[in-house]
Amino acid sequence: MSRGFSTKYQLGKDPLRGKDREKQKLMGKALDQSRPNEAHNADAAPDIEGDVAVCGRCHAIYHPKHWHLDEAEYQQLRGDPKVSEIVCPSCIAIEHQDFKGQVTLKGASLAKHREQILNTIYNEEAHLRATNPHSRIGLIEEQEEQILVWTVNEFLADRIGKELKKAFAGSHAEITHLPRESFTRVVWWREE
Ligand SMILES: [Zn+2]
Repeated sequence: MSRGFSTKYQLGKDPLRGKDREKQKLMGKALDQSRPNEAHNADAAPDIEGDVAVCGRCHAIYHPKHWHLDEAEYQQLRGDPKVSEIVCPSCIAIEHQDFKGQVTLKGASLAKHREQILNTIYNEEAHLRATNPHSRIGLIEEQEEQILVWTVNEFLADRIGKELKKAFAGSHAEITHLPRESFTRVVWWREE
């Protein structure tokens, strides 16, 4: 049940959420390279020939042992025949809806301050994603009286919980780490 999100959250901006043709083109590739166990290891080494690779979907750049975002660098690298184009682990996780964090938003405050709450979440995503391309929101589900925010890694869910608690006085955040499942569950609410 989508009622439309804040304009700050541009659905078309992330290639995975938009362009279907591009998505189809990459689909086979993504499945071939899918290694579910490694999908959440931010630095999981992709299967590439050289040292450098780029993700054609989210523009993340892989240098040995590290993923990062830099649009200018991406534009430079994408034309280089020595650089492999792949689908990164977080884009694969989003495609498979294979998430590592879940934030449940509820309480009377949600309807009243919905826009502000979602903007706090998008800002935290943008902030963390700048240093780790895998700190991403994969899916937002609006339910009857709550909203579920699914994150690609555990860290983002944890930080969203802490940021919301800080930003909204009198609110609560229950953060549960499930180390066995490598999953972080956050419930945030404010009753007013
Ligand atoms: Zn990607």
